[in-house]
Amino acid sequence: MRPIQMVDLKSQYDKIHDEINVQMQQVLDSATFIRGEKVTIFQRNLEKYLHVKHVIPVGNGTDALQIALMALGLQKGDEVITPTFTFIATVEVIALLGLTPVLVDVDSETFCMSPEAVRKAITKKTKAILPVHLFGQHADMEALKNIADEFQLFLVEDACQSMGSIYTFTNGLSCSTGCMGTVGCTSFFPSKNLGCFGDGGALFTNDDALADTIRSIANHGMEVRYHHDRVGVNSRLDSLQAAVLDVKLKYLDLYILARQQAAQFYDQALAGCERASPPVHQLKSTHAFHQYTLKLHHIDRNAVQIAMAQKNVPTMVYYPIPIHLQKAYAYLGYKSGDFPVAEQLSQQVLSLPMHTELDEEQLQYIINSLKLVLQ
Ligand SMILES: *Cc1c(COP(=O)(O)O)cnc(C)c1O
Repeated sequence: MRPIQMVDLKSQYDKIHDEINVQMQQVLDSATFIRGEKVTIFQRNLEKYLHVKHVIPVGNGTDALQIALMALGLQKGDEVITPTFTFIATVEVIALLGLTPVLVDVDSETFCMSPEAVRKAITKKTKAILPVHLFGQHADMEALKNIADEFQLFLVEDACQSMGSIYTFTNGLSCSTGCMGTVGCTSFFPSKNLGCFGDGGALFTNDDALADTIRSIANHGMEVRYHHDRVGVNSRLDSLQAAVLDVKLKYLDLYILARQQAAQFYDQALAGCERASPPVHQLKSTHAFHQYTLKLHHIDRNAVQIAMAQKNVPTMVYYPIPIHLQKAYAYLGYKSGDFPVAEQLSQQVLSLPMHTELDEEQLQYIINSLKLVLQ
């Protein structure tokens, strides 16, 4: 059996090695490493894939989130509502810009922000809602969109973990992840659903004027060369990464299918298990399974992780501490007990190996090991 890893990027690369190398070699030969044609080609192909008007490639997912908030013209002290159970980057950019992160609890089944909690958190200073489609499944976008419309708030999607996932509204309209709100943000970090060989990210929007603003901010606040209309940043996807991404985009649906099949194997094997509940599937959203995350019951999670590691099965905890209990965010004034669902999840969750290259022998071994450990 091949060794089991949380993410196996090497085996994935081995299968598309020739195609990738040809594309990368073309970039090397052209020596256009920045703003080359590969970036434009990938951008257009991703626009087609997502059915969105504008994809703006940037340097990473954190930059994408920061640039999105900058482009909306938010002012110091404006409030942005976001979940406390997420990767730190979501909240970090809000804080960095001098905006106020207003944290809310999540739904215990989807792990995503609770629309009821969002409604309760709205004040006169609220300007935006920033849902995170955690682990590859969407937040309740229909409810969130209704709230955003009702209170005239921006809706910024953190789609860093949900590339390849689709959301379907009650009226039958299906949308790609990150393309439902005012603006969507994603990351092409190597282990993400669509990952490059370094850092990368992108913003998505259907708003022409907002797209222009985003492009300008990502390029030093400049539209005409050396004329700077606003304070910007330097954030761009380079040509080598775009070349890799353009090849991998062709396989994205197959990659998602491989993740879903691995998830289905886990789901079936764990059905009825008393000590671990598999992730609950939302009706309106497909699940891109960036992570396969269990909730453990009545068992010491740390001991489970150690016992699994002894059987050479890695596991991870995403995320062990919700944002409101992180030291850096103590200034926000939250305390233990404020967000009971997120606090409980942070004690309970355990993610199993999940990637595109898991074979049946590995899956069976992981499940056999887990069942022994959970006995
Ligand atoms: C990965 C990730 C980010 C940040 O992306 P980077 O490309 O690493 O900057 C932001 N939010 C979430 C939810 C993520 O998973």
